[in-house]
Amino acid sequence: MARQDRLLQEDVHDPYFVKQKYRDPSVCEKCSVVFKNGAFEWVKPIPPSAAKMVCPACRRIADKFEGGIVTLEGGFLSQHKSDILNTITNAERAEQAMRPLERIISLTDRGAKIEIQTTYEHIARRIGDAIHKAYKGELTVQYPEGEKYARVFWKREGR
Ligand SMILES: [Zn+2]
Repeated sequence: MARQDRLLQEDVHDPYFVKQKYRDPSVCEKCSVVFKNGAFEWVKPIPPSAAKMVCPACRRIADKFEGGIVTLEGGFLSQHKSDILNTITNAERAEQAMRPLERIISLTDRGAKIEIQTTYEHIARRIGDAIHKAYKGELTVQYPEGEKYARVFWKREGR
């Protein structure tokens, strides 16, 4: 692939974040994340001059517009469900502290299978890595070409 094409692909447009549309500073009326100096941050106290807005993460959550999906499967999952759910929560907290727009949209527990929709791709990757590191098993991460999106699969059989 030509270098030019690759550069274009890395700069994939996020329909939920058009920088020029956000006033600086502004604060999300749903989650209180602050847009300041061109970036989203957890800021306390909230700048008194901040305009109100709804941030891209909260808009994606409302629309269920996922930027990543994590699928966990296998016999080991049912046996260690509560530990694995804790690992997911910890990975979510750690990622959100660094990248405030990375959130879990939904977590669907189907017994021997868990599906997690995320707002963006980084948190999907982080959850997969955290589970793989803690519980081994098989991890696959796919980035469909040209999309700002991650598909993460993890599987472990046995107990
Ligand atoms: Zn928000």
